[in-house]
Amino acid sequence: MKTFALRNPALALALGALVTAPAYAAKTVSWDDIVNDDKTGKDVLTYGLGMKAQRHSPLKQINTKTVAGLTPAWSYSFGGEKQRGQEGQALVHDGVVYVTGSYSRMYALDAKTGKRLWSYEHRLPDDIRPCCDVVNRGAAIYGDKVFFGTLDAGMVALNKDTGKVVWSKKWGDHKVGYTMSGAPFVVKDAKSGRVMLVHGSSGDEFGVVGYLFARDVDTGEEIWARPMVEGHMGRLNGKDSTPTGDAKAPSWPDDPSRETGKVEAWSHGGGAPWQTASFDVEQNMVVIGTGNPAPWNTWKRTKEGDSPTKWPSLFTSGQAYVDAATGELKGFFSHTPNDAWDFSGNNSVLLFEYKDPKTGKMVKASAHADRNGYFFVTDREKLATGAGYPWKQTALIGAWPFVDGITWAKGFDSKTGLPNVVESQYPPKPKAGADKGESIFVSPPFLGGTNWMPMSYSPDTELFYIPANHWAMDYWTENVTYKAGAAYLGQGFRIKKLFDDHVGILRAIDPKTGKIAWEHKEQFPLWAGTLTTAGGLLFTGTSDGYVKAFDAKSGKELWKFQTGSGVVSVPITWEQDGEQYVGISSGYGGAVPLWGGDMAELTKQVSQGGSFWAFKLPKR
Ligand code: CA
Ligand code: CA
Repeated sequence: MKTFALRNPALALALGALVTAPAYAAKTVSWDDIVNDDKTGKDVLTYGLGMKAQRHSPLKQINTKTVAGLTPAWSYSFGGEKQRGQEGQALVHDGVVYVTGSYSRMYALDAKTGKRLWSYEHRLPDDIRPCCDVVNRGAAIYGDKVFFGTLDAGMVALNKDTGKVVWSKKWGDHKVGYTMSGAPFVVKDAKSGRVMLVHGSSGDEFGVVGYLFARDVDTGEEIWARPMVEGHMGRLNGKDSTPTGDAKAPSWPDDPSRETGKVEAWSHGGGAPWQTASFDVEQNMVVIGTGNPAPWNTWKRTKEGDSPTKWPSLFTSGQAYVDAATGELKGFFSHTPNDAWDFSGNNSVLLFEYKDPKTGKMVKASAHADRNGYFFVTDREKLATGAGYPWKQTALIGAWPFVDGITWAKGFDSKTGLPNVVESQYPPKPKAGADKGESIFVSPPFLGGTNWMPMSYSPDTELFYIPANHWAMDYWTENVTYKAGAAYLGQGFRIKKLFDDHVGILRAIDPKTGKIAWEHKEQFPLWAGTLTTAGGLLFTGTSDGYVKAFDAKSGKELWKFQTGSGVVSVPITWEQDGEQYVGISSGYGGAVPLWGGDMAELTKQVSQGGSFWAFKLPKR
């Protein structure tokens, strides 16, 4: 028996494990771990800290009374010559922090000491086309693997303990503009019992058609794919499934240069769901925001002589409800029909429940703060069960401005669910023979009342916390024709200040009334997400380098720490050996220094960087 065991390494290992546990027994991540992520403080297993993406932690050792003593525990430098924007949200499991960096890099760090356990740097081709910096927003974790998207339109699965590549899939052509900056998300299809990796694509500024994908976690094989432009065909298990919405795509006009067939804009219509999904477990529904229609130029998507309001460019710039079992689009709410301003609908869609003050009934709702300046509360059950599909805006509960000075619309009609668009805010067409149209003043600008940086929701205060900005743009139409791999906008712009004393405006909003509970102003644009905790705190970062903690109830600033570069990432918190940590990446970049006009000038003084910081309270 002894001899046999020695000749059989697998059995020898098994026997060894029975006698004494090996020194390093790495735990795997189960679906139960993931679905309970919001309730467990010792790990952070999802982008959004839970299926509902509320970004709220049950931890309270660090609280309004103790936070003043918060001190750095360790810091890790991503190193290299390549810096730029660090927008990632880290994950934590079994004493290891998994954080992604710019240029498609990932690091596994000891959660107590910051010691690097492994690192992975994706080999990127020279001709990638990210619109808005070389950022990566984070990873997903399941079983023995961590997953993240790469700028060359790929998805990589690494062994979480060694950093070795398990599989690597190219899902789009980076030469025409497909890329990926968002964090993938793990869901379990209740029908098949299959755990899947769900992720979107980026590339609206290059006229791609945006897709949401579900893949096998073990092999990376595609399970389904859902295009977000009406009339394009979906896939399921390697075969054509159903078209998105109506096969004839009545929300998109024919290209006027062709007699039949919707050619230019429709074939390159954008709608990319480039942020991270949330998951309605009860309804088996993936919930995700869709990107702007391409090109930005609204006249390319409007029939000659009509108002743009007649051509909504479905299913772009809205919130989409996709069946996890089949990849079918089941429900949709448009935030900006025929989006002429690159508002896009991508910002996080949070799932939450509240008691209706009028009826006393619990409402299952979705919340979304859009680049268009409105905070939306929608009826999630209606949307997930297909009421009004393919397009009736019947699920609107409320749409309130969360920033001042909105010019493009005068509110939303509560009956139709549609915006009251100010028609003069559609930038005029160039006159015959001219290559650009008259410039108009628009607020918010395309960089948005808020942007990708995710908001949070505290079930304790029942408030949402939106990292917002007050700014505007000069905006004009330009002639444009699609050319593969070239920017496909048809608009020119210049970002400007709206107020002298601030750009960033952190606001707490009540989802039942749309009332602003408190606000905090920042001189520089806000480009970091928020996190709330059961300790009554709100954490975020600022473009001039601070990590800050606020009293979530009153908005009082209670603590700050200077990290040495701008903070444009997303904070997390976890517990390790009885101590609560707060972690966040530092490293200035993202869309503002590239596209931000006057704001790019303003933030030129911010040093570049690339590091992850962990904070905790001193030992008593
Ligand atoms: Ca957790
Ligand atoms: Ca866009």
